[in-house]
Amino acid sequence: MEKVLEVKDLHVAFNTYGGTVKAVRGVSFDLYKGETLAIVGESGCGKSVTSQSIMRLIPDPPGKITKGSIRFKDKDLVKVSEKEMRSIRGADISMIFQDPMTALNPTLTIGEQIMEGIIQHEGISRENARKKALEMLSLVGIPSPESRLKQYPHQFSGGMRQRIVIAMALVCEPEVLIADEPTTALDVTIQAQILDLFRDIQKKTGVSIILITHDLGVVAQVADRIVVMYAGKIVETGTRRDIFYKPEHPYTKGLLNSVPRLDVEKGELIPIDGSPPDLFLPPLGCAFVSRCPYAMEICDRVYPLNTKLTKDHQVDCWLQDERAKKMLAMNT
Ligand code: SF4
Ligand code: MG
Repeated sequence: MEKVLEVKDLHVAFNTYGGTVKAVRGVSFDLYKGETLAIVGESGCGKSVTSQSIMRLIPDPPGKITKGSIRFKDKDLVKVSEKEMRSIRGADISMIFQDPMTALNPTLTIGEQIMEGIIQHEGISRENARKKALEMLSLVGIPSPESRLKQYPHQFSGGMRQRIVIAMALVCEPEVLIADEPTTALDVTIQAQILDLFRDIQKKTGVSIILITHDLGVVAQVADRIVVMYAGKIVETGTRRDIFYKPEHPYTKGLLNSVPRLDVEKGELIPIDGSPPDLFLPPLGCAFVSRCPYAMEICDRVYPLNTKLTKDHQVDCWLQDERAKKMLAMNT
């Protein structure tokens, strides 16, 4: 499979009056062509910061990518100039957010807003931009696009507005689409339609999608692979099958247990007892230790090494590590 994006050992920190918050602490993952990779975790786990880093949208100050690389087309996005990044944003890597209203300008027609992106990035004529805008509106399932081009955002329903935002994000045919909680603001029926739309668009365009969500129902519907984040780190990575049917990290198990009927009903991640650690002073060992029913002495002192269970399935937990088992045997 062709690798489109490669994030390696990414660290992001925010300087605040209280000290430095280490929001992302050594995150690595690959994104392949045409796949949907979901990044899942509770709020504050670093999933949005990770996606904003890929777009280089971390406000600096107070935020900073302190280490690591983000490879995209022979470039390291951590190092490219802001000018170059502007030409990548929207054209090669696009992002959509939870609330479509914040992405749309209420004073401009839908047509003007969709066309703006193409004219800016591709320098094509207004007539061709208009054709492209119509094409995009049909792609995202807006009926009679010709007449809707002249309408303003408030003339559309919430679900339709999110379709328009998706059309804007896709108009320059990006290779990567990052969607941060794209359906959270929508009701369940509309949400299902938007998720169908993602699948449909992916089939037609081959775009790779990074889906950021706290909602396991959404993940179950569209993700090919899943990355589970906790306290700024990836604790488990696997295919959808691995994560839903063979989860190995106690945190992943906790998430799944908190949702009774995953494959059938929409489920929210109900936080497991306790709360994530303070990222001002992240723990040396496993960050889940205070909430983990299986915690051992070593967990508190040393961060677990990454264990590769299969080609796709990896986990950071001492329970999976032969060396920890030996140490335990020695102690008893
Ligand atoms: Fe629990 Fe230890 Fe595994 Fe962390 S490393 S999840 S504390 S068993
Ligand atoms: Mg977020």
